Amino acid sequence: MPRYFWLRDDTVATARYSGDFDAAHKWGLPGLKDCPGCGATWGGAGHNYPAVDLSLLPERGEFEEPRPEPFHEFIRLQALVRPLAPPNSKLPPGTRFGPLEGTASGQFGPFMWLGISMIIVRRDALDSLQAAGVRGLLGARTELRFRQKAPPDILELQIEPRGLLHRDCFPPDAAPPCATCGRLGLRRPDDPILDEASLPTDTDLFRVGNFATVIIGTDRFKAAVEQGGWEGIQFRELPVR
Ligand SMILES: [Zn+2]
Repeated sequence: MPRYFWLRDDTVATARYSGDFDAAHKWGLPGLKDCPGCGATWGGAGHNYPAVDLSLLPERGEFEEPRPEPFHEFIRLQALVRPLAPPNSKLPPGTRFGPLEGTASGQFGPFMWLGISMIIVRRDALDSLQAAGVRGLLGARTELRFRQKAPPDILELQIEPRGLLHRDCFPPDAAPPCATCGRLGLRRPDDPILDEASLPTDTDLFRVGNFATVIIGTDRFKAAVEQGGWEGIQFRELPVR
């Protein structure tokens, strides 16, 4: 039975590096305006597919401007990108695609975070983890413009939503997700519990499907990171039920 760890920014370690960026993904699904099921206007965070390239999609221009759209328009756009996304992706409102674009500068550590739910990895660290047998790592190219002469070789990890948080870590009276748009109107629990039956067995790194800002690594992932001395990730073991 593998052990599972919640991955977060080790801010003490990442603060030692000067790396900084102002970047966003090239394309995205719009947010949803006035869901006909729950009435919410929303776009989720954490559903990011940096390795999914929309550049050959004739309608790509419709994915460039973040905005909310009514349900029927959202569904039309979601159907256009579905064939390009990994099978079984949920693609909720606010899902992002394509390389990070923007400007960057400074020295990058092995792992740097953009917000709480995107991980940038240096190529030497990624190669070492893959050589150590860590499964399911996908490094996507970035389109960051560096001012310095020798820019670091950095990639964004595409971390796909798999598995679920267990219902026991939500309040007992919590409403189920909206049947129309899938929105779960709950705060992230302070003490997450993973739902054992839902967890993937073929990857050592994933996001939680019903709370995509929670990134999980297995003990194999943690051991390879520590063995390589790669800094930037804080590990907290989560219970499984
Ligand atoms: Zn809804």
